[in-house]
Amino acid sequence: MGSQEVTNWQGKSVTVAGLGVSGIPAAKVLHGLGALVTVVNDGDDERARAQAAELEALGVTVRLGDGATLPEGTELIVTAPGWQPDKPLFAAAAAAGVPVWGDVELAWRLRELDGRKAAPWLAVTGTNGKTTTVQMLASILKAAGLRTAAVGNIGVSLLDAVLGEQEYDVLAVELSSYQLHWAPSLRAHSAAVLNLAPDHLDWHGSMEAYAADKGRIYEGNRVACVYNVADKATEDLVRAADVEEGCRAVGFTLGAPGPSQLGVVDGILVDRAFVENRQKNAQELAEVSDVRPPAPHNIANALAAAALARAFGVPPRAVRDGLRDFTPDAHRIAHVADVDEVAYVDDSKATNTHAAEASLAAYESIVWIAGGLAKGATFDELVARSAKRLRGVVLIGADRALIREALARHAPEVPVVDLDRTDTGAMLAAVQEARRLAEPGDTVLLAPACASMDMFANYNKRGDAFAEAVRELGA
Ligand code: ADP
Repeated sequence: MGSQEVTNWQGKSVTVAGLGVSGIPAAKVLHGLGALVTVVNDGDDERARAQAAELEALGVTVRLGDGATLPEGTELIVTAPGWQPDKPLFAAAAAAGVPVWGDVELAWRLRELDGRKAAPWLAVTGTNGKTTTVQMLASILKAAGLRTAAVGNIGVSLLDAVLGEQEYDVLAVELSSYQLHWAPSLRAHSAAVLNLAPDHLDWHGSMEAYAADKGRIYEGNRVACVYNVADKATEDLVRAADVEEGCRAVGFTLGAPGPSQLGVVDGILVDRAFVENRQKNAQELAEVSDVRPPAPHNIANALAAAALARAFGVPPRAVRDGLRDFTPDAHRIAHVADVDEVAYVDDSKATNTHAAEASLAAYESIVWIAGGLAKGATFDELVARSAKRLRGVVLIGADRALIREALARHAPEVPVVDLDRTDTGAMLAAVQEARRLAEPGDTVLLAPACASMDMFANYNKRGDAFAEAVRELGA
């Protein structure tokens, strides 16, 4: 069952690791195909029991409270992407020669089930910008009249997209490093790695392992491997990949593009990759002002999306129309309001330092609201590179001391208000302090560089609290 196609699932013993957003649908689909499915799950709480009862009613076996033991006779494991590779279950599987697939691998393998005409995948990964880029890509593909959806690590599950009633011409697929780790046979039409910064290293074990998992997205690409000219690690991954004959490396850059690149010239997004005679010619695609928000990192996302769409043969006008039609998700550089000539911007989704740095680079003079759970990050580089833009800083959350110390080292002249609070109401106080520090023309930017769970249920709630506080200021 390793590399060869499975055409008959009848009676196959499949273990699904993890109840949850990927495990439950996987168990149902496999059971529906006639496999003998056992779900194993570490947790044994009330929610798990309710989910187990639902699956058991269908005839699926569920083992709660024991995700470590490999059920006897297992021929294949289908794991939730988040399960760490060093779990004992996988050691047992390796010892028994049992292959392990993730949810993406399962969808990939089932895409041609019952003679379906499978839609090609345009795939996107990266440390930051995945969701935005995939949504921009789907918008561009739609503008070209193609039947498509943004799927994967976002909204619609891949299994649903692949097996559902709806037919697609092409899919815009967001993939996390975890999903790529467990997707050994995936072969995209074309793929992009947007950027590569340390993240989730506890899961992958090392930066090398993280990069290698991201790089899998390029394996077997047919038309284009899209990389970030400003992030050499992404280009190295293209070089290391084994692709189909004729597949091209295509770079995107915020500067003027060389041959086989997309870039920006005088406020215009231009394509020098998918044109006749790319030594001499360039094709205008859209204006920078067609990209919302027009922050530099977001223009990079738009170029990556455009490159994948052009690799699929989409005409230039659809790139422009698709970018114009695109509405960014909430809490990603969302302009909340102007109060007393100060702009208040919510980038609560900037949950790591790489994202926060991109966000800070988009404004000239900033009062920065930061802090939360650092997840093992260090802040020296971020602070050193952003210091000149900081009018002031307001710190919140559990790990704020780490940022305060980095500020003391690299930006000692910048005023810092350290709000010694982690209660939810602290956001109002933070916004009030930020207002005090701000001068007309400044931007108050919530780009915490940290996760939110010390103070809020999630980054959405953190952003909502910020917006609410800003509204109180204006009232
Ligand atoms: P992901 O799906 O990878 O988490 P999102 O599109 O949701 O990415 O963006 C998350 C955050 O990352 C944004 O709020 C922004 O702060 C930052 N970001 C977006 N695109 C980029 C990029 N290309 N480079 C660096 N940071 C980015």
